[in-house]
Amino acid sequence: MTEAEVLTIFRQSGALLEGHFRLSSGLHSPGYLQCALVLQHPREAETLGAALGAIVRSLGVQTVLSPALGGIVIGQEVARALGVRAIFAERQDGTLTLRRGFALEPGERVLVVEDVVTTGGSTRETMDVARAAGAVVVGACAIVDRSGGKQGLDVPFHALLPMDVKAYKEDECPLCQQGVPVVKPGSRAK
Ligand SMILES: [Zn+2]
Repeated sequence: MTEAEVLTIFRQSGALLEGHFRLSSGLHSPGYLQCALVLQHPREAETLGAALGAIVRSLGVQTVLSPALGGIVIGQEVARALGVRAIFAERQDGTLTLRRGFALEPGERVLVVEDVVTTGGSTRETMDVARAAGAVVVGACAIVDRSGGKQGLDVPFHALLPMDVKAYKEDECPLCQQGVPVVKPGSRAK
């Protein structure tokens, strides 16, 4: 699947937003891909999952692990493509953890799947959950890579769509300096 094909799916779903956004990382950005608007369509979700699955097939993944909520749908679809199970970690008292009876075996080969990677922080946290259980993280992947290649993960990382839309710290954000109101993605964009 080419980057242009992925972008076409995002455009058709209205998931490519422009404005002034505060990302979950805290950074500000003039553009945002709202993956949930693509993933609400199961057929598109399955297509993206299959494309990621094809990239990571050689890693010998036994289990897909995603951080809730953003990673769950695409994690499910990557797991479907690979024919493995999909589990997720979620926050309890601020700490990402496995709940609901989800467990990993020592040595189990885990792929971490996210919708978007920006700083790599939540990916690393999810990897830590797997490693704390003794599992082996064989790779990580996301639909969109907003890190500019700076995610700094210590495992192979793959994304379908590198997005070089700029992201700024709040005190360096030109849109803030112009007085443009900032919104959280998911709020109504201007
Ligand atoms: Zn700003």
